[in-house]
Amino acid sequence: MAANSRCSAAEPPDLETQRREVEYLLRDCELRAGDSWFMVDQRWYEQWKELVESGDQNSSCPGQIDNTELFEEVCSNHLKERLVENEDFVLVPAAAWHKLLSWYGMVDQQPPLERKVVDLPSTLKVEVYPVEIFLCLHGNMENVTTAQFSRTDSIHSIQMAMCRAFSLLPTCECRLWMKSSENNCERLRNVHMSVLDACLSSGMTVIMETRNADGTWPSTRPLILRNSVEEQDSYRGQPGVCGLTNLGNTCFMNSALQCLSNTPPLTEYFLQSIYLEELNFSNPLGMKGEIAEAYADVIKQMWSGHHYSVVPRVFKTKVGHFASQFLGYQQHDSQELLSFLLDGLHEDLNRVKNKEYIELRDAEGRPDQEVAEEAWRNHKRRNDSVIVDTFHGLFKSTLICPQCHKVSVTFDPFCYLSIPLPVSKERVMEVFFISLDPYAKPMQHRVLVPKAGKVLDLCLALSEMTQVPETQMVVADVFKHRFYKIYTPDESLSCILDRDDIFVYECSAQSDQQVLLALYLRERAHYREYGSVSTTLFGHPLLLSVPRSSCSPEALYQIFLQRLARYVRAPNPSGELEEDDDDDDEEELYKSQTNGISDDDEQDDAEPTCSSQSEACYADGPANSRHQDPIAPSEVHIRPPPPEEGDVHSMCTGAPKPLCSGDAGPSDGHVHARGEESRADVDEEGNDEAENEEEPPQSDAIAEDDGKQEEACSPSSPVNERAAKTRTCRRKKRLFDIQAVNCNGLERETGPNLTLSSQPYVALDWDAEIKKRFYNENEAEKYVKHSSMDVPLQQTTVQLQECIQLFTTVETLEEENPWYCPVCKKHQLATKKLDLWSLPEVLIIHLKRFSYTKFTREKLDTIVDFPLRNLDFSGCLLRKKLSNGEPPSRYDLIAVSNHYGGLRDGHYTSYACNKDNGQWYYFDDSKVTYATEEQIMTNAAYVLFYHRQDKMRKPCVAAPSPSSAICTTSSTSTASSMQPPEADVSAVTPSCASAFAELTMETD
Ligand SMILES: [Zn+2]
Repeated sequence: MAANSRCSAAEPPDLETQRREVEYLLRDCELRAGDSWFMVDQRWYEQWKELVESGDQNSSCPGQIDNTELFEEVCSNHLKERLVENEDFVLVPAAAWHKLLSWYGMVDQQPPLERKVVDLPSTLKVEVYPVEIFLCLHGNMENVTTAQFSRTDSIHSIQMAMCRAFSLLPTCECRLWMKSSENNCERLRNVHMSVLDACLSSGMTVIMETRNADGTWPSTRPLILRNSVEEQDSYRGQPGVCGLTNLGNTCFMNSALQCLSNTPPLTEYFLQSIYLEELNFSNPLGMKGEIAEAYADVIKQMWSGHHYSVVPRVFKTKVGHFASQFLGYQQHDSQELLSFLLDGLHEDLNRVKNKEYIELRDAEGRPDQEVAEEAWRNHKRRNDSVIVDTFHGLFKSTLICPQCHKVSVTFDPFCYLSIPLPVSKERVMEVFFISLDPYAKPMQHRVLVPKAGKVLDLCLALSEMTQVPETQMVVADVFKHRFYKIYTPDESLSCILDRDDIFVYECSAQSDQQVLLALYLRERAHYREYGSVSTTLFGHPLLLSVPRSSCSPEALYQIFLQRLARYVRAPNPSGELEEDDDDDDEEELYKSQTNGISDDDEQDDAEPTCSSQSEACYADGPANSRHQDPIAPSEVHIRPPPPEEGDVHSMCTGAPKPLCSGDAGPSDGHVHARGEESRADVDEEGNDEAENEEEPPQSDAIAEDDGKQEEACSPSSPVNERAAKTRTCRRKKRLFDIQAVNCNGLERETGPNLTLSSQPYVALDWDAEIKKRFYNENEAEKYVKHSSMDVPLQQTTVQLQECIQLFTTVETLEEENPWYCPVCKKHQLATKKLDLWSLPEVLIIHLKRFSYTKFTREKLDTIVDFPLRNLDFSGCLLRKKLSNGEPPSRYDLIAVSNHYGGLRDGHYTSYACNKDNGQWYYFDDSKVTYATEEQIMTNAAYVLFYHRQDKMRKPCVAAPSPSSAICTTSSTSTASSMQPPEADVSAVTPSCASAFAELTMETD
């Protein structure tokens, strides 16, 4: 520049021309958003105006434009604060500025103060003060530069400015964060958003991070990769062969993600970052791009080849944020998640920014082709995304009114096909039958029952096998050594799940004289304090009916001992169990409680009917039983026999707390010796038998009236008996004490009297030491299998094509879901038929294994025979004869989501074929193993992913070497189909062992 010459860079026109030209430009100028205006120092401008208005060439020339006064300090280009228009500066439009600049030039080193017109809400104005922002990189927060942006600038322009400032390629994948305060950092997700809309203001910092080679982001890295920071540099595995850590019941999510991850067109869309251009931040149906981004992050990490396993925590949080049903960590359905995810991804990536309203037209007799094309066009006008491109097909739905025969045809898009499985009307149940014969082991039976049947049907089926009348069976669900539920005959079988442990007990014929006792076994803990005894349940509970008349503790003790005879050894009669008793406390406790469920009114009970053969066993004393080996001659006597045989029969109580079935608390005060009490005092060794031949204390005795019983069993009178009770004496200890409990096997609250109509629960409490000696745990757990178990369970197998046919079968709408007939003008139970019109590139088939009807909830374990290759739809596609021939309709399997287990719980895994090497893998949360094609088809297959052959590409890298494939063919997949296959590491040859170990290495 020609130094500081007083005037002009170029030769300015005469003063009048200058005045007219600038005046003209100012007069016609309106504020238009985006236009540039320039700030000029007010004093310089006034001096120029004076000059041109006076027309006096001799007036003082303003000289070069000089804005120095507007700056805080010129070198920083920082404006003074609170400058006022038309006092400190004037604004001139760009055209006028350029005239002035050309005539007068600018003071050296001074930047022009160009300012944009911004369209702020409800007002247009020149933005005198732009937003001044600090910029830095995530990796180097110390290195901060300052830049100014207009409020109308996009976030993308900040991104570009940062790439320039920090010498990064403008194509690098990066994320911007806005830091407004020390602990507030917010993602600038939408790069098309303006500085104003993003609420960026002066003084804030924008931080940029670039994606790591392993697909993670530096800012979330500590979250995503907790334990595996070091793996990043070392591991270069096959991209896509990557586990997903279970974050607590998230296997359903991992299973769905693995299937989607192995869907080639979708994964390539994300890996090539095409999604960045299509993120839809404004779609009210979407998640503001957050689901798509979180999904992209997971996919980029899984396909980086840097990880054995990825922790999808951010993704899970986002999913939970937008779909509260997935928020917790309870188990969910992989298909439900898949459905949500495909919908969420679609709306987040929907290329349609403003959805127009489109009225759907009925076919009204027009040809299918026309209606279908119209339907698809309309769908695409509102829904256009990679999800639609990949997964959406069209089916035809035909409704016919049963009354007026109006035919309504619509074509509806679908994202997956939910295919029904044929439902069997029958059901196989496995139950244990417990015979009355105490020496018979439980027998496992397999019975066929009507699915909609009642518990009685189960008994009837079992009765055919056992010849035991169904009226003498009680069905119970046993769980953790107790009765979870005791069923009545008219309860529905649907209450019983396949995994429940069902025991069917033979009981003697029920009558008013019988009471059905539920028997639990408990072991007392070693530490025992007065009044509070800690017990744990063990063994199998029993149900047995007992004559009401024999509910005295002693009689019950004998009955129970007899019932347990198979695995409880009776003590040696010569006093094996005898011990000194100096524990008065317990005796007192006993005395304070009445014992026995039996009512005095029952005294005249008739003899119990010994209808069943097993009943006879009751009558047999242990010593008489042919099964019995009560006292082996060689048995070692642990304790010497008591010095006085008489003591054996002493009246002192044998059991510390023999509350049989508590009908009274301590306040009851029925301490007087009744017959029951006296029986309770008889020693348990059956010695009475020897001495009182006429009255063995078994069922014979039970049949007797109380008075006789007393006489028979007690050598002393009731009066003496009472006296005997209160004295400390030697006594024989019982194997167990009888205690009334509640159905959970816990102490019953002493409270309302137990009524005989309710189900009495009784616990047999064992001391650990005695249990160890007399209770044969091994024998107790034994059971035998009925021949019905040998017949292989007929696994129902159906062809996938049969299920698809079922999907297209005419059905009548259900009452709850009628159709509004436009002709009849009312709801009608129309017939409905679905047909497939066009199929997508990737077809998702959901096998409806979870069947919920009004009456039943069940999981169908049917094996669906689905082909791995050449699933051909040409036979059932309605759309025919394209201009270029048949539409492509052959599919190959690419992924399967598996569900193992029942309704209430279960585990999800997946099989998937890697798009790059063509190898199948088994994904079980963070574990990944090789899979063979033979393993894929199981009754766990739940959601199938098929890729249309015309769109498939050949693998670009070789499949893993055959030696490593051996890893899985030699695997010993566990026999049960409930178990996912597990590669047997021990069978792996050394050469592939390392590869295998690498592959299955877990990171979490
Ligand atoms: Zn109608």
